[in-house]
Amino acid sequence: MIEIDGSAGEGGGQILRSALSLAMCTGQPVRVTAIRARRSRPGLMRQHLACVQAAQAICDATVEGAQAGSCAVSFAPGAVRGGEYRFAIGTAGSCLLLLQTLLPPLLLATEPSRLLLSGGTHNPMAPPYHFVERAFAPLLRRLGAGIELKIHRHGFFPAGGGEIEVAVWPPAALLPFDLTERGALREAFGEALVAAVPRQVARRELDALARAFGWSEAQLQIPSLRANEGPGNAVLATFACEHVTELFTGFGEKAVSAERVAGEVVAQARAWLASGAALGPQLADQIALPLALAVVASGRAASFTCSEVTPHARSNFAVIERFLPIDCRIEAQGAAQLVSLLPG
Ligand code: AMP
Repeated sequence: MIEIDGSAGEGGGQILRSALSLAMCTGQPVRVTAIRARRSRPGLMRQHLACVQAAQAICDATVEGAQAGSCAVSFAPGAVRGGEYRFAIGTAGSCLLLLQTLLPPLLLATEPSRLLLSGGTHNPMAPPYHFVERAFAPLLRRLGAGIELKIHRHGFFPAGGGEIEVAVWPPAALLPFDLTERGALREAFGEALVAAVPRQVARRELDALARAFGWSEAQLQIPSLRANEGPGNAVLATFACEHVTELFTGFGEKAVSAERVAGEVVAQARAWLASGAALGPQLADQIALPLALAVVASGRAASFTCSEVTPHARSNFAVIERFLPIDCRIEAQGAAQLVSLLPG
């Protein structure tokens, strides 16, 4: 049984999610203690509980401690079964964080899967749907996996009510990659999502992006969302480069100006643009686990450059190293960081 201290490093929900994924991928039982110990409301929130229960459902795991507020969970996985699954988080808990937990084991399953997930699709502090579809999924395809995503309904925090559908085709073998150059910028554009929020808010957000990046009207979009998908507002800036697509998001909040929400996006995008790295901080954090599986499967090293290795990512890498015979090395490379995943 692998013991993981959930309060180590950055100490967020990621430690639990990565531990569940890796337990399923490797067949090793895990016990995670002190879950989210340093958060204001420690233990399993509904969001995390949904991840434990969904993980249990796809592999018939034997689980202890799966209750709201629980600070310790034991998870002994069975064999992962692909297939058709429907999971409802019930609150605005993020569908994409649930997907993040389930995808790695489903990529290693012997049969394809189709998931229907309901909850939040655009939550602060979680990967937004569009980030997963445009930035993360193409990297999984580069590992050899088949993945298609559709959004049926947007769901914003705190109302939720969104729904996504994800189809996964496991590859014959996961193949590692090196991604150290982003390549030439092919396309850049901004979108402001507004549901039951005045269109004027979207306009002001897009104007702020246009001023910052010198974008023309043709690069600004206000997608049509239904009022009952809200209330909610998110601003997205997408940069499609030759080798990678990056996407940065800001979330509208009451009493925060449209310009400030857009300003958050501008700051994130500028940091990535200035670094010259292939990946931004979130994409680097999230691709590490599937890429590490590919390194172990093939016995070949992989690498990527990123604008920053966050404390969150370092904690995630530490969990990966507990389960997989792998060495994550980080070194500065100009204004960027080079991350190498070496077979141990
Ligand atoms: P945690 O805070 O430990 O529950 O983890 C949050 C997860 O959401 C991590 O995988 C982050 O990389 C991801 N995340 C948070 N904000 C964003 C964002 N704006 N874009 C993409 N991913 C995000």
